[in-house]
Amino acid sequence: MSIKQQLSSLGAGLQSLLYPTLCLNCQRPLFGKEEPQLCISCYGELALTNYWKQAENPVTDRLTGRLPLTFGVALYFFNTGTVCQSLIHALKYYRRPEVGIQLGRELGNHLKEHPTLADLHGIIPVPIHPTRRHERGYNQAEKIADGMAAAMGLPVFDRALRRTSFTGSQTKKSRIERVDNVRKSFAIDKGDFSGKHLLLVDDVITTGATLDFCGNLLLEAYPGSRVSIATLAITEG
Ligand SMILES: [Zn+2]
Repeated sequence: MSIKQQLSSLGAGLQSLLYPTLCLNCQRPLFGKEEPQLCISCYGELALTNYWKQAENPVTDRLTGRLPLTFGVALYFFNTGTVCQSLIHALKYYRRPEVGIQLGRELGNHLKEHPTLADLHGIIPVPIHPTRRHERGYNQAEKIADGMAAAMGLPVFDRALRRTSFTGSQTKKSRIERVDNVRKSFAIDKGDFSGKHLLLVDDVITTGATLDFCGNLLLEAYPGSRVSIATLAITEG
């Protein structure tokens, strides 16, 4: 090892002593062998859905009658106060894009040999509006898609859909106004995916409205296409 390399390695060691990586959930300093973002104890609290083992599951159920799905999965259960919520918040609000890539890779590892997904053409992240992207610095769904793509050996088509209007706060609008607002805020953009099987990716599935609209846009625009869905988390109840 050269002196330069030794100094650099010493620097990295000092850096980790002075500024240790903290667990995203409990803020405890992390040392070496633990998960890069979580301590062993918090990692153990994450609740896997195992939906990739079920052709019909709460993700597919949530879109029944709205979006004809080939397959649908989520990685973890999302509840208030859980480790999963800390991870999603870090990804969305605290500029931790690597959380999306890492969890996306984990999700991709569960799906890469799934028979229903063997003919996937590529991954399409749900877009966010350019204003929000500018504020956040990235689109979290793209980071998840990047991690999944690395694990699954698939391309990401991050310009397949675009966000057309900034919906802002929806709290003062009626439910019907909100749904209509979301529907109008997505559009088809670049590419031709006729006859292709596409995997639509987002961070969390709640009501499923966003995935419903994006999926139907793709199915209507590209004859013979099919859509599957994967998210990092699903809200329960
Ligand atoms: Zn922890």
